[in-house]
Amino acid sequence: ELDVLKTVEWMEQTNEKMQAKKDELTTLDQPIGDGDHGINMARGFQEVVNKLNDTEYNEVSAVLKDVAMTLMSKVGGASGPLYGTAFLKISTAVKGAGTVERDLFAKALTEAVNGIKQRGKATEGEKTMIDMWSPISEAFQQASDFRPEDMMEAAQAALESVKELEATKGRAAYFKEKSVGHLDPGAVSTFYLFEALADVWK
Ligand code: ADP
Ligand code: MG
Ligand code: MG
Repeated sequence: ELDVLKTVEWMEQTNEKMQAKKDELTTLDQPIGDGDHGINMARGFQEVVNKLNDTEYNEVSAVLKDVAMTLMSKVGGASGPLYGTAFLKISTAVKGAGTVERDLFAKALTEAVNGIKQRGKATEGEKTMIDMWSPISEAFQQASDFRPEDMMEAAQAALESVKELEATKGRAAYFKEKSVGHLDPGAVSTFYLFEALADVWK
């Protein structure tokens, strides 16, 4: 479950990962993009942590709303509004809850996936971050004996399969069949986001 403290910790750990993986994410964005995804994520999540450290929160929903607004306003490029939309949907779905249990978070993730799809006019199988958000969301929906390790197993499998897809949305779509064999940078940053969640989720 998530409370305010754990949600802030989730964002702090995500930021640490994005700083550490900045070059990797940027390198992934070179062959099938414009080589800025690591820069975008590192800047965005640093701004998120700065904002959270400056503010007092008494609800998970309020934390996540600030995450959304910060990513939307500070991250240029496709990924900012898409991540922003995802966090905004989660924030709305968990409004009023002091602690967010698995059931509620699972529902919130469904909303997030739908939000990303709408905002980016994309769906599964188009080699985008959706191909990571969606299987992770599904792992959350399953079994009431949900374990973070199961979610990361699904995420790991998604990482393997996204490689084989041909991009049909975003910048990578310009590379058509040449995009096959490459990881999608947004799917990889999403992997790190949920790796951080698995660490704080208990
Ligand atoms: P930009 O492409 O504007 O430089 P980034 O490099 O930060 O932005 O982010 C690229 C990532 O955004 C891609 O790897 C992909 O996962 C995601 N993305 C791009 N377009 C879409 C879309 N229409 N729907 C979902 N995700 C998308
Ligand atoms: Mg890019
Ligand atoms: Mg760009």
